[in-house]
Amino acid sequence: MSALKDLLNAQIARSGPISVAIFMQDALMHPVHGYYATRDPFGAQGDFTTAPEISQMFGEIIGLALAQSWLEQGAPDPVTLAELGPGRGTLMADILRATAGVPGFHAAAQVHFVETSAHLRGLQAARVPQAIWHDSVATLPDAPLLLVANEFFDALPIRQFIRAGNGWRERMVGARDGDLCFGLSDATPLAQLAHRLADTRDGDLVELCPALPGIITAIAKRIASHGGAALIIDYGDWQSLGDTLQALSGHAHADTLADPGAADLTAHVDFAAIAAHAGPAAHSRLTPQGVFLERLGITARAQKLAAGLVGESLQAHIAAHRRLTHPAEMGDLFKVMAIYPARAAPPPGLDR
Ligand code: SAH
Repeated sequence: MSALKDLLNAQIARSGPISVAIFMQDALMHPVHGYYATRDPFGAQGDFTTAPEISQMFGEIIGLALAQSWLEQGAPDPVTLAELGPGRGTLMADILRATAGVPGFHAAAQVHFVETSAHLRGLQAARVPQAIWHDSVATLPDAPLLLVANEFFDALPIRQFIRAGNGWRERMVGARDGDLCFGLSDATPLAQLAHRLADTRDGDLVELCPALPGIITAIAKRIASHGGAALIIDYGDWQSLGDTLQALSGHAHADTLADPGAADLTAHVDFAAIAAHAGPAAHSRLTPQGVFLERLGITARAQKLAAGLVGESLQAHIAAHRRLTHPAEMGDLFKVMAIYPARAAPPPGLDR
């Protein structure tokens, strides 16, 4: 039995079942036993692969889209260039390399990372030593903001609720014979879910990310007051419906409750919740990742890079392009939404 499972069992015995959000929070972020606190989960040897780890093209295109928004908005100096949950720091390293030729951009941009894992901060510092780290978005400068968040919101803890009449029963994690198990609370009406009574039926499961509104509001406020743009990329859809909590270990699905801290836990992102909290700024239409990358010329870039490759590295490059863009791979599952000033145009590749 894992040490974290022991701790959670003891806590549940003391004070009763915990929400799925508290379980996720501990499993991912516990300072000693949490998944992100203890390991580097990215890449072929890790538990999952993210878009920036698949190909440099992803970060190059994100970088040029952000720099284009910066130019269109009059090239404000200084500008905060921020990333939420930068993982290994690969995406920001690619953004910086791709934008090195944009006149004035590097002189104006200060790199800020929001990252809670001390272990990952160490890997990020090796790639982007000049970054300034934050525990949350609250301390980002009150200044023009260019921001990217790739596979960040899917790692934030969610609560799950099952519709019962006009109320909701919360899915809880309890303990039985030393093992963790799911259960349900009694039904109560919930103001935060009032808007879901219109589109759900008895027995439907919906998910709520308690940290999301505060994070989006902090970003949108800076962009509305000072300019800039945020690109949010994640897997998910317009509204959550159904259980999307999943555990991944060694690139395969794992049992959610069996060994907390040993597997990555994610949930699909509810982009309608992001849109709902983006005011006073504007938000773009939700766009599939494949469409976004194609509109910004990923195929031309892929062809250019392919010219220098042969054999296995050429095959790997072709596979990476397909993986990022093809509807049967990440192209449709992953979506992009931008937050931008209501008076400005949305970042390139996205519609108002
Ligand atoms: N963006 C990276 C990594 C995604 S994994 C990539 O695409 O490869 C999620 C990242 O978010 C990790 O760096 C994790 O430590 C960080 N993270 C998760 N929850 C966080 C929180 N509440 N605050 C700050 N960082 C968080």
